[in-house]
Amino acid sequence: MKRKVIIIGTGPAGFTAALYAGRANMEPLIFEGPQPGGQLTITTDVENYPGFPDGVMGPELMELFREQAKRFGTETLTQMVDKVDLSQRPFKVYSGDKEYIGDSIIISTGASAKLLGLESEKRLMGYGVSACATCDAFFFKDKKVFVIGGGDSAMEEATFLTKFASSVTIVHRRDSFRASKIMQDRALSNDKIDVIWNSEVVDLIGDEKDKGLEKVILNNVLTNEKTEHYVDGLFLGIGHSPNSVLFKDYLDLDEKGYIITKPDSSETSLEGVFAAGDIQDTKYMQAITAAGSGCMAAMDAERYLEELE
Ligand code: NAP
Repeated sequence: MKRKVIIIGTGPAGFTAALYAGRANMEPLIFEGPQPGGQLTITTDVENYPGFPDGVMGPELMELFREQAKRFGTETLTQMVDKVDLSQRPFKVYSGDKEYIGDSIIISTGASAKLLGLESEKRLMGYGVSACATCDAFFFKDKKVFVIGGGDSAMEEATFLTKFASSVTIVHRRDSFRASKIMQDRALSNDKIDVIWNSEVVDLIGDEKDKGLEKVILNNVLTNEKTEHYVDGLFLGIGHSPNSVLFKDYLDLDEKGYIITKPDSSETSLEGVFAAGDIQDTKYMQAITAAGSGCMAAMDAERYLEELE
């Protein structure tokens, strides 16, 4: 199967790229990947996506993105891309035993918030557990929350959460933070923030069908002592990782594995291959900025194909 453009990944960036490519008669083919709809499908209410004054549920918003993209001729494949060959044009994308050929490629595979890996964390995600303070802090007005991590993300989340929560406790597995001094100082000088050092989360107690998260069980790594803490929310601030492993042999990536795009453009280091959304964004990481960059990628791909002709 050959297409003018193949889009890999279906968060806000991928579907917006598909919408624009579809309207430009490029008949895009889009691979949904392992988490169709992307990170918004693991949040509940989205209140900061413009156009929805009463908010919208994350999964519902992504369903609307999908419908809108399909209206203009996008074909969606609910499968994973296993391998790509970008060594020459047209580019090749493999899924299972099938080969797909694209004159251009848009990569919108996103980044995944690192998780602790607990079964209870997966179950309570969106029900007291969150990996995005910007998205969910508002729901924790006058509540007690924990933030996990010791880097800049954790400091930033903790500081942001103090605008809403009654108390914020940073839980860190060591006895010092790796965050920059300025971010640490800002967090530590805030009256609402305290820290539990040398501790890791070993379990989360709560029922997603009832009150959601109720208790966090910590283990002190020095003494092995387990303690129970009643909290309303738990925010993971342990970093994100870009889903770029398929592309590392072909494209320039930064030291953390994010795809490098040219300034004010979605162009990667390889002509005809474009990147949009969190896979190339270490700064904003919002649905609306991802959607905007998806639009840019489709327009860049269209212009690239026109110039080729
Ligand atoms: P990071 O610097 O990699 O820090 C991750 C933190 O989470 C570390 O403290 C780490 O502990 C902890 N951690 C990792 N896995 C864990 C696990 N399984 N259980 C418990 N704790 C775990 O990630 P980041 O904070 O997201 O920052 C990423 C980059 O973005 C950095 O370069 C940062 O400067 C930048 N950033 C900048 C800003 C800003 O300037 N406004 C905001 C956010 C991020 P250890 O320390 O023990 O490894």
